[in-house]
Amino acid sequence: MRILVVEDDVLLGEGLVTALKRQGDAVDWLQDGVSAIAALRSEEFDLVLLDLGLPRLDGYGVMTALRASGNRVPVLVLTARDQVGDRVRGLDLGADDYLVKPFDLNELLARIRALHRRAQGQTSNVIAYGELRLDPAAHLCTYKGRMIDLPRREFALLRCLVENAGRVLTRDAVVQKVYGWDETLESNALEVHVHHLRKKLYPELIRTIRGVGYMVEAAP
Ligand code: CA
Repeated sequence: MRILVVEDDVLLGEGLVTALKRQGDAVDWLQDGVSAIAALRSEEFDLVLLDLGLPRLDGYGVMTALRASGNRVPVLVLTARDQVGDRVRGLDLGADDYLVKPFDLNELLARIRALHRRAQGQTSNVIAYGELRLDPAAHLCTYKGRMIDLPRREFALLRCLVENAGRVLTRDAVVQKVYGWDETLESNALEVHVHHLRKKLYPELIRTIRGVGYMVEAAP
């Protein structure tokens, strides 16, 4: 999934980006509230990690503007403020969850999975599509009960397509969701990853919609 991290603490921001990328997410990182609002207006994210104490516009301001614009993206607030009043205010403004710093990285990752699952209407961590099973927490993929070895990017791409089964995703949308802004992306990387997935799973799984992008059919 594609995650926006809004955090002005450089050490923490770098740590979050590294941890999230390691588990295959596309991560974009911004350090102030005004840039965050601009990015959220122009790009589509699956989840936002939002610090409250930010330069230019604080996290409350970002939440207010975000929800006022009708954007329903799940937001997990990260903050050093541990007063009950701050938590209540953040949640009242439309945050979906709350974690007080310093937090345990594994707890953060588990909460991210839970929020994403809820947003996708899933009840289990394992994503099922026909005889395909994807477990993002364990980074496991099986097809017809057989383990399929998928590198990080192929796993992220497959997950993105399966979670959007029945919808055509434009090439740009897929690139944004799987690779984010700052990856040095070879121009044919996406096509290569699609090719590998078809070979490792089955050719008809991913359809190319000529001139538009890719899709997998609605769940069988
Ligand atoms: Ca801060």
